Amino acid sequence: MEMLQTAGLKLPRMGLGTWYLGESVRKENAELEALRTGIELGITLFDTAEMYGDGGAERLLGKAIKPYDRSKLQIVSKVYPHNAGRNHIFQSCENSLRRLGTDYLDVYLLHWRGSVPLAETVDCMEELKAQGKIRAWGVSNLDTDDMDELEAVRNGGNCALDQVLYHLGSRGIEYDLLPWTQQRGMPVMTYCPLAQGGRLRRGLLGSSAVKKTAGKYQATPIQILLAFVLYQDNTIAIPRSGSAAHVRELVDSLRVTLTAEDIALLSKDFPAPTRKTYLDIV
Ligand code: NDP
Repeated sequence: MEMLQTAGLKLPRMGLGTWYLGESVRKENAELEALRTGIELGITLFDTAEMYGDGGAERLLGKAIKPYDRSKLQIVSKVYPHNAGRNHIFQSCENSLRRLGTDYLDVYLLHWRGSVPLAETVDCMEELKAQGKIRAWGVSNLDTDDMDELEAVRNGGNCALDQVLYHLGSRGIEYDLLPWTQQRGMPVMTYCPLAQGGRLRRGLLGSSAVKKTAGKYQATPIQILLAFVLYQDNTIAIPRSGSAAHVRELVDSLRVTLTAEDIALLSKDFPAPTRKTYLDIV
């Protein structure tokens, strides 16, 4: 799989998310199978957060990766904004590491911006790096103006990535945030790349442009959504599934590379932004 370099790391263009996983004992075996199917098929990158299932997603991911060589995986987790200051971040990070059964995170993200000054969060992130608890840090749900502010604080330029919502039905970042990151060689890790299975945008999976494109590649509409996100330079997609069959379908989508003509067709139903729209979040 194509890799992107950032902040001293190499990250693959596709990983798996874990929101809503690890919340039900009944589903645990299926979810473990889904994550491990991903690993067997070459997925090495996983996204999680202390928020997801109150630590349940981190615990599930820790179980899933236990039989595998940790050094070949990349784990991203996130700290709540209210824990992202000097008083709590070190303990939050320790708690995530314990739940994941690992002694370092590849990337630790500020989940969204809260009241802790960015400069304080960055100082703490740099300390976690120096302690070997994290290899790199980044942010999530920060729009262009926040990124400008981040870049201006001491060591703010060490930010590895910005994780934001992006899918065919929500293309706002193409206007300015995506170019901002591309100019700096900073990946955008796109969440909800499947628009939560189409639920975030009515008519997305059933649109004639999506169906026609799917037909062209003998692919499913879900695979086209994923290929759309990866069409842009410097994006990383982290779709989530609790089903091994769905994970197979997601990994198989990597065979689809959309063309400029495909994007033009898709843009008829879901146009690119022509003006600034504020970040979409869930
Ligand atoms: P996604 O866009 O990845 O969609 C997930 C949904 O798609 C699930 O309901 C899943 O159902 C379904 N799905 C997956 N594969 C298939 C398939 N092959 N066919 C049909 N349906 C499928 O939504 P998420 O919100 O989970 O976003 C992805 C990840 O991004 C999260 O898990 C999380 O790690 C991260 N995230 C980060 C946020 C942030 O604020 N930083 C916010 C939101 C997400 P099923 O399980 O049945 O396959």
